[in-house]
Amino acid sequence: MTSSNGSIMLILSSPSGAGKTTLTKKIQQKYQNFKISVSHTTRKPRSNEVEGIDYFFINHEEFKKRISNNEFYEYAKIFDNYYGTARNSVNKLLKNNNNILFDIDWQGTQQLSRFKELKLIKIFLLPPDKKELENRLIQRNQDNIDIISKRLKAYDNDIHHWSDYDHVIVNDNLEHCFSQIEKIILSEKNNAI
Ligand code: ADP
Ligand code: 5GP
Repeated sequence: MTSSNGSIMLILSSPSGAGKTTLTKKIQQKYQNFKISVSHTTRKPRSNEVEGIDYFFINHEEFKKRISNNEFYEYAKIFDNYYGTARNSVNKLLKNNNNILFDIDWQGTQQLSRFKELKLIKIFLLPPDKKELENRLIQRNQDNIDIISKRLKAYDNDIHHWSDYDHVIVNDNLEHCFSQIEKIILSEKNNAI
């Protein structure tokens, strides 16, 4: 993978429920040249999720086949499911000179960081505290209590990975967090000129 055309690749990672999906969608809406990299996953779709928009939903066997065909730039097993970034999806976006938004975890971020030629901006989002994270996971109203407690349990390990990132932002007030991300994007764009 090369981004010699200067495309920005913005990675947002966080403990589950901190606000990555909300923020990547907000960035894409405001900045038309940023497109979300749609991942493949073996997780079952949530009631509000759309095939090809939120994820490409495939089964375990299909995912394994794609791993052995080397079809992913990165992939990871998270909460008992596989998630991965397909080479052809990203290459298509790069061909069209898009900037790319990745909503991926710390394992995927480490794998993409090995492509030294990429212009990655790595942002780690934190919730204000664990209790608020729990509230958000409950209010999202998309996962059952077992899944929510698995995600909360992962929090203590997830947050250790903040130091792999260029920026760490607390997503307390959504608009404030968004404007901090915008500042980072604009400063990277200016540096590229
Ligand atoms: P993630 O993609 O990181 O798992 P989501 O974007 O799905 O998280 O956000 C989890 C829930 O928290 C959603 O219901 C979302 O609307 C809500 N949320 C996101 N950011 C904030 C915020 N700053 N304040 C309050 N609720 C938020
Ligand atoms: P969710 O099930 O809430 O949509 O996502 C669970 C976790 O998987 C989140 O941390 C999300 O960022 C991560 N994730 C989603 N897609 C990918 C991917 O393609 N690769 C990796 N490594 N993580 C992903």
